[in-house]
Amino acid sequence: MKFNIAVLDGDGIGPEICAGAIQVLEAVGKKYGHTFNFKHYPIGGCAIDECGDPLPEKTVTGCLASDSVLLGAVGGYKWDDMPVDKRPEKGLLRIRRAMGLYSNVRPAKLWKALAKASPLKYELVKDGVEIIIVRELTGGIYFGDRGRDTGPDGEYAWDTERYSVKEIERITRIACELAVKRGKKLVSVDKANVLESSRLWRSTVHEYCAKNYPQITVEDVLVDNMAMQIVKNPAQFDVVLTSNMFGDILSDEAAQVTGSIGMLASSSLGDGRRGLYEPIHGSAPDIAGKDVANPIATILAAAMMLRDSFGLVREYAAIEIAIQKVLDEGVRTADIMERGKRLAGCREMARLIAERV
Ligand code: NAD
Repeated sequence: MKFNIAVLDGDGIGPEICAGAIQVLEAVGKKYGHTFNFKHYPIGGCAIDECGDPLPEKTVTGCLASDSVLLGAVGGYKWDDMPVDKRPEKGLLRIRRAMGLYSNVRPAKLWKALAKASPLKYELVKDGVEIIIVRELTGGIYFGDRGRDTGPDGEYAWDTERYSVKEIERITRIACELAVKRGKKLVSVDKANVLESSRLWRSTVHEYCAKNYPQITVEDVLVDNMAMQIVKNPAQFDVVLTSNMFGDILSDEAAQVTGSIGMLASSSLGDGRRGLYEPIHGSAPDIAGKDVANPIATILAAAMMLRDSFGLVREYAAIEIAIQKVLDEGVRTADIMERGKRLAGCREMARLIAERV
């Protein structure tokens, strides 16, 4: 099969980590008989330098013409003093909107070989953990009506959590598509004991799943309990579906359980198959250009693209197994280095993973 991938390298370590992911995708293409065509477009600080805009028109057009998009990271000291609407990060918000993406999928994966990096007790995580949080990204309280006024008790303010059945159904579909490719289990997180919007969330998720994905088992967990369970027994979860605000908080909590930011990927998806795949970390300007960045988060983002945008489940697994092998062989980048292991740079780590594919 043939796929056109738009690559937005961005700033800082972006070009190094994207180069690593491309090398691994090329190895997958060679092994499984696929052709990946890569076209690079500017975003973030480098786009400001080149075109005066963190998201030039040619980048939007290129992304919309592609089968999917791989992003490095944006930002850096050089652009820190720019006005807010001209900053590199604006490019990210705008590309998500331009591509119609309304979900954020963040797997918090703790590899067995790195279990000691977790701040949790070793016994809790020794077999590895993978919590895939599917967060609604464009609705809820962050986008609802808000305001300030003055009443008899003085000044007050409000924000509104508002979800429509349509918004809940479309994010549920994304979580279900992942759950059917994995353990066919879905945990839906809400606060239905208090919030009306959560009661609608809960009934909609159940009705939608029963009608469209009867093979999936759905369990409801209240958000306060979920926050406790993530640190008490993280290995019990697989795919977790939740709203914008709860997902914002829980995905950061789950990421902490893994203990290594250089290993975590994420995707943003919308109605079609095209998505935006990226590491969760930033552009790490402190280590840019030194060949020390960990490319694994971006390589995993590329693997998610194969599975979730192109339906290449076997190829996704091949990358995961290759990463596992390299970690089991004791190779580490500086950020995940432990005593007795062998240190590798960004380029070497990517090359070894590509070879194991
Ligand atoms: P950061 O994630 O870039 O870095 C935090 C720390 O983690 C640094 O010490 C860095 O060296 C390290 N680190 C990050 N990724 C690593 C990797 N792959 N391998 C090894 N070490 C890694 O966060 P920050 O320092 O707060 O932000 C730096 C810049 O990135 C800022 O301009 C910020 O706005 C931007 N940023 C961009 C994104 C994005 O593009 N999605 C996300 C967060 C921050």
